[in-house]
Amino acid sequence: MSTQLSMERKKALLDIFGEQDCLFTPEELLVYTTDASRISGEPLATVRATSEEQIVALMRWATREKIPVYPRARATNTMGGCAPTTPGIVLSLLKMNAILEIDEHDFVVVTQPGVITKDLQKAVEAKGLMYPPDPASFDVCTIGGNIATCAGGMSAVKYGVTRDYLLATRVVLPNGTVAVFGARTHKNVVGLDVNRLLCGSEGTLGVITEMTLKLIPLPEASASILVGFDSLKAAMDCVRNVFATGILPCALEFIGEQCLKPIAQMGHDIFPAGVTTCLLIKLDGAKDTLAPQIDKLMRVVEPMRPAFLRKGLTREDEEELWTVRRLINAGSALVAPNKIADDVTVPRSRLHEALKGIDAVGQRSGLTVLTFGHVGDGNIHVNIMFDAATQQDIATKAKLEINELIISLRGVLSGEHGIGLSKAKTFRLQIGEVEQNLMRGIKAVFDPDNIMNPGKSY
Ligand SMILES: Cc1cc2nc3c(=O)[nH]c(=O)nc-3n(C[C@H](O)[C@H](O)[C@H](O)COP(=O)(O)OP(=O)(O)OC[C@H]3O[C@@H](n4cnc5c(N)ncnc54)[C@H](O)[C@@H]3O)c2cc1C
Repeated sequence: MSTQLSMERKKALLDIFGEQDCLFTPEELLVYTTDASRISGEPLATVRATSEEQIVALMRWATREKIPVYPRARATNTMGGCAPTTPGIVLSLLKMNAILEIDEHDFVVVTQPGVITKDLQKAVEAKGLMYPPDPASFDVCTIGGNIATCAGGMSAVKYGVTRDYLLATRVVLPNGTVAVFGARTHKNVVGLDVNRLLCGSEGTLGVITEMTLKLIPLPEASASILVGFDSLKAAMDCVRNVFATGILPCALEFIGEQCLKPIAQMGHDIFPAGVTTCLLIKLDGAKDTLAPQIDKLMRVVEPMRPAFLRKGLTREDEEELWTVRRLINAGSALVAPNKIADDVTVPRSRLHEALKGIDAVGQRSGLTVLTFGHVGDGNIHVNIMFDAATQQDIATKAKLEINELIISLRGVLSGEHGIGLSKAKTFRLQIGEVEQNLMRGIKAVFDPDNIMNPGKSY
């Protein structure tokens, strides 16, 4: 494996990308060493692609030279998916950011990977259409990053995740060949569903350069309620009752007890004493169906005697409630300097056991463990807060215990963030030897030289 970028190699990159889109100095490369996980590696160079042709040329060259390539978009990945494992070339996709087509008849959008998710959503909304996957990072992350991680989000409980909207993918394979999987149609059972395999492959199989996504009609209206309970059990009973009544919320978020203090410190001290657990529930649909849906929801929630209840019936009021939820990530920095972020997922019936068990791990370890997230689909964000100078081993042990607990509850290690580097070691807890070998076999078919984001995921 090459560890130096010789003048000759620099020249090869300059020939493909031009001086303005090749970065070589340590200062320029610093930002490309890591992602939101803060796990870091050593890039030899960063190149910023503006066309698929450049990526084809890069991959042909990288295959010849046996140099790893690390695709990267906005680097909001929390698992170290963008960090170079061995010295190689970081490939930024951010300049390939054109929405190529929105078709109101076919209900599809064709786009390049570097488009910010929120911008794509706004563009299709202007035509009365909706692209539902909405990761909490939607105003910074890209649609290409979303495909590569199969991003979920708040509304996954009703509308599903990224893979449910991916119809076709154009991909540059590690040897520089361009392949197209899927089609523009909303149904397609011709051949193996490689399209779906690429979704969530975390940059390990090829570089996605274009995608066709399914759209749906934009719901006319929405409303949200923020409801606080005096116990975790009461909140989880409420989740159960909401679904038992036949309500399908478009989001059902959970805010655990340890999150309330940082939220208050961030200027939203809105909960009365005694509130330990909150749910944020959003409904949407046609205007005339919303009021009956809210009534139905209230008939579930009010008899449970919540300690706090606030309705967001206008866009502004709703936004205020959602701000509380969005403060958790920034607020976590007030708890401790470092965190291990997990996004474990359990069958909904096991949520209470999972959350109680995670709290118990937190108490045993002496660390603050924040829990919050998309409980509507059993997806719990777990932030183990610690000081890396003195508590790294304790935090790592707590993570392992939580992962083992989740597997014992028939859950999975990640619902949406993927495996990257952070979970590469615990991956084996969930995926057996036979299955791992099959996954590695698939990787070898796509990438026989192991140059595509090596060392990640599986
Ligand atoms: C505050 C915060 C909130 C978040 N909330 C959510 C959430 O609700 N739901 C959720 O699912 N995730 C969430 N995430 C995680 C993250 O935002 C998502 O994984 C997102 O999809 C990453 O997009 P990105 O553009 O930042 O991609 P990056 O982080 O740059 O890349 C992600 C992975 O995809 C690969 N990749 C990127 N582009 C391509 C491409 N074109 N071809 C091939 N491989 C590629 C990279 O190598 C990397 O492995 C959150 C992150 C943060 C920091």
